[in-house]
Amino acid sequence: MMKTNYFENLINEIDLNSPPPENEPQRQAWYLARAAHLVTARKKEAGRDLTFRVETFGCQMNARDSEKIIGILERAGFSEAASEDADFLVYNTCTVRDNADQRVFGRLGRAGHLKRNRPGMKIAVCGCMVQEKTNVEKIQKSYRFVDLIFGTHNLYRFAEYLCNTLESEGMQIEIWDRADRIVEALPAARKYSFKSGTNITFGCNNFCSYCIVPYVRGRERSRAPQDILRECEQLAADGVVEIMLLGQNVNSYGKDLETPCSFAQLLEEVCRIEGLKRIRFMTPHPKDLSDDVIRVVRDNAKIARHIHLPLQSGSDRILKRMNRHYTKDQYIALAQKIRAQIPDVSITTDIIVGFPGENDVDIDDTIDVVRTVGFDNAFTFIYSKRAGTPAAKMPDQVPEADKSRMFDRVLQAVQETAHGRAQHLTGRTMEALAEEVNVKDSRYITARLSNNMLVHVPGDPSMVGKMLQVRLDDCRGFYFFGTVVEK
Ligand code: SF4
Repeated sequence: MMKTNYFENLINEIDLNSPPPENEPQRQAWYLARAAHLVTARKKEAGRDLTFRVETFGCQMNARDSEKIIGILERAGFSEAASEDADFLVYNTCTVRDNADQRVFGRLGRAGHLKRNRPGMKIAVCGCMVQEKTNVEKIQKSYRFVDLIFGTHNLYRFAEYLCNTLESEGMQIEIWDRADRIVEALPAARKYSFKSGTNITFGCNNFCSYCIVPYVRGRERSRAPQDILRECEQLAADGVVEIMLLGQNVNSYGKDLETPCSFAQLLEEVCRIEGLKRIRFMTPHPKDLSDDVIRVVRDNAKIARHIHLPLQSGSDRILKRMNRHYTKDQYIALAQKIRAQIPDVSITTDIIVGFPGENDVDIDDTIDVVRTVGFDNAFTFIYSKRAGTPAAKMPDQVPEADKSRMFDRVLQAVQETAHGRAQHLTGRTMEALAEEVNVKDSRYITARLSNNMLVHVPGDPSMVGKMLQVRLDDCRGFYFFGTVVEK
């Protein structure tokens, strides 16, 4: 767990005989101290450890939120369990697609059975899904064994909710319509000791017509640059070598700050932090990717040679209906500018196929962009209606059979360009960060290149977390087998 010394000091100074302070983060420090006190007493009473499990659905933002939840649970004295059969179980949910909700409800049903056999078990549901009233009503009606429901805007109060849940029975519901502040300095766990994500913005102002995020994550809020830099410095001091700056639209970072700071300026500052070897960011919106950002990436070798630039569609007509604010030609011109200025960069993308009103002529345009840009990889999704978004109400929804035919066409084009781009790198020696022992064959280590591609190399666990020079011997489509030439 990353130790935030300031917050640790606050906890150590807490007097639990005084009422909880009104100010943050002092208030959360008080509740965390109280939760730790309760957990210690319960462990003693039970004669065993108390365990937690956090199940995360969805995107990188949710993964980062889960690290914050885990940081609190660990600091309170819980140990991580290998399964959902745990004393404190949290579902951190996603609602980007309707079927994501159904998956969570399925898991919740099974958790109810676990709870019957585990006296004192507590179950919490948080994240984007519970920002929607209908989902909370469904949990209240059909999953009455749930102890805590809290939303995305008040995650910083988790220590308080944890404490209240441990001390009371019945369902506690804490959902806010909007965020009132960004609270800094709370503890967070890290999945990897050598790499980490850091939020730079929360929420989104873009309202793409298919997307629920602005409704459940709220309007865009930027963290102050000094808070982000302090966190990055602390991570580097802790041994982290790679940082991913996270936001729904990183390019609009800083526009809402009292003293504006652009994303390009922030990137430059992060590059100056000693100890950090690689910096990534996710996700830039094509309409806002500035020349300054391209220049900063070009001029700073620490910034990964990878830009994920969501296209969504190559058809001007569909882009307009998606409310994306760029045209096919503008997107292509931007991608070509990036490639011209940063020659070894990889460009990856997201594509939605089967958006309302989309037909084969639109798909021709999308394929044309795929081939012209030559994406290094693309996540291709079949459009599915997301209740609560404008696109869900559009009358001309595409039949499933047409969607799947169009999807196959796009996928084939993506695979062709991606394989061609990867093949091109065979034989080169590149820097790769060793991330983990290969899950299929423990004689190999899986490492990530600056361009975000994976390479598997013979090795041992001692290499994990190190930057390696790797020769890319054998291209297998989207990944490589290679050899370490220098550690
Ligand atoms: S930019 Fe569009 S797709 Fe991305 S989170 Fe915002 S509304 Fe959703």
